[in-house]
Amino acid sequence: MKVEVLAIGDELLIGQTINTNAAWIGQEMASRGYQVQRALVIEDKPEAITKALDGILPSSNCIIITGGLGPTKDDLTKYTLATYFDSPLEIHEDTLSQIQSFFASRNKPMLEVNVQQAALPTKASILKNRRGTAAGMWFEQNGVIFISLPGVPYEMKTIMTEEAFPLLEERYAGATLYHKTLHTQGIGESFLADQISDWEDRVRAAGLGLAYLPSPGIVKLRLSSYTGKENEAQIAAFFNELEVRIPEHIFGYDHCSLETALGEQLLQKKATIGTVESCTAGLLAQHIASISGASAYYQGALLTYSNELKVKIAQVNPNTLAKHGAVSEQTAIEMAANGRNILGVDYCLSTTGVAGPTGGSPDKPVGSVWVGLSGPNGTIAKKFQFGDNRQRNLEMTVLSAMNWLRYYLKTN
Ligand code: ATP
Ligand code: MG
Repeated sequence: MKVEVLAIGDELLIGQTINTNAAWIGQEMASRGYQVQRALVIEDKPEAITKALDGILPSSNCIIITGGLGPTKDDLTKYTLATYFDSPLEIHEDTLSQIQSFFASRNKPMLEVNVQQAALPTKASILKNRRGTAAGMWFEQNGVIFISLPGVPYEMKTIMTEEAFPLLEERYAGATLYHKTLHTQGIGESFLADQISDWEDRVRAAGLGLAYLPSPGIVKLRLSSYTGKENEAQIAAFFNELEVRIPEHIFGYDHCSLETALGEQLLQKKATIGTVESCTAGLLAQHIASISGASAYYQGALLTYSNELKVKIAQVNPNTLAKHGAVSEQTAIEMAANGRNILGVDYCLSTTGVAGPTGGSPDKPVGSVWVGLSGPNGTIAKKFQFGDNRQRNLEMTVLSAMNWLRYYLKTN
C-alpha cells in the first residue's frame, strides 16, 4: 500500500510546530510494511486542501490528512472535505453522545460549537476519537482511501492505532510486508549475531528479511516476509529455534515490554514481589510499577542508598558491609533475603553497584553491579559488569534484574 500524508496547518509552515505527525505516521506505516511515498504540508485554506486532493499521486492508495478538525473558525478541513466529496453534514449520534460524555466527565459546559463537531459528512465512515471531540473520517473514492484526523498528536495517534490501522490491515492483509519482532535482553548485538550466524544464513536463504534493532540493553530481531502472511508459520518456526537456543534472553514479541513479560510470569505464579534498591534508587520499582495492573503483584520497595540504611532498614549485618563492602555478593544476598521477609513478598530483587562515573576501584570498577534474587527456594546473586555511563548502567541494571527474575520464574 502506498500512502501520502497531508499535514494541514499554518503553524507547521512557519515552523511554530514541528510536523511530528508525519514522522510518526511514516514510522508506523513502515513498521507495517506500507510505504509513505510523499508528505506534504499545506495552509489551513480550503483552496489549498482542494488543490492538494486534486494533486494526489496516481499510485497512492491512501491519503492521511491531519489537522483543522477542531471547533474553531480556522478549522476548515471537515467543511472542505464535505464539499470535495459532495456529502451533506448530519449530526452523528454516537459522536454527539461521546462529545457530551467527554464534557460531562470533565465537568465542563458544552458549547454549540462542540455540538457542531458531531455534524459529520454522511459519506464518511466515522473513526472514534476516545481522547477528544474531533472524530476521524474515512472516505473512499475511486479506490483511494482518505483518512482525516485531528492535528493534536495524541488524538491522531489514538485514532490511527485504535481505529484506522485495524481497518487498513483488514483491507491490505496479505498484500503487504509481514513482520514479527522478537525481543532479547542481556546479549549485545554482535554477540547475538555471532551466536546465531548459521540461523541467520538459513533465514536469508529462505528469502526472509532480517533486521537487528538494538537499543541499550535490548536487541530486537525483526523477520519480514515480502509476500504477506504467507510465511507466518515459517517465521514462527525460525523464532522457535531461537527460543530453544537462547531462552534466557528472549522475553517476548512485537509490542511486548520486559515489564509486561515479568508481570505475566508473576501473575501466572500468583506471586508477589518487592525490591530493595541501592544504586538504582527506586528506578527498578518505577519500571515494575510502570504498567497498569502491577498492583496485583508489586508490593513496594526499600530504598537503602547509604550503608547506614542498609543496616537500619534492610537489616544487613554491619560485619558483612565491613568485610565485603556494599557492592558485593554477600550484601546483595542479605538485601534480597531480608527484604523478602520485611516486605512480606514471595520474591525480592536487590541492586547494589558502582554506577559511576566516579567511585570505582581496581577490584570494583565503575559499572560493577550485583543483583540479588530471593524466593521461596533461597537467595542467589549475580554479578554484572556494565560500562562507564551512569544513566545507562542504571537502566541496564533494571533491565537485567527484571529479565533475570522473568526467566527464573519461568524455569523454577
Ligand atoms: P483542535 O481540536 O485542537 O483544533 P485540529 O484538528 O483543529 O484540533 P489543529 O488546530 O490543526 O488541529 O492543531 C491542533 C494542535 O495540534 C496544535 O497545537 C498543532 O500545533 C498540533 N498539530 C497540528 N498538526 C500537527 C502536526 N502535523 N504535527 C504535530 N503537531 C501538530
Ligand atoms: Mg484547530
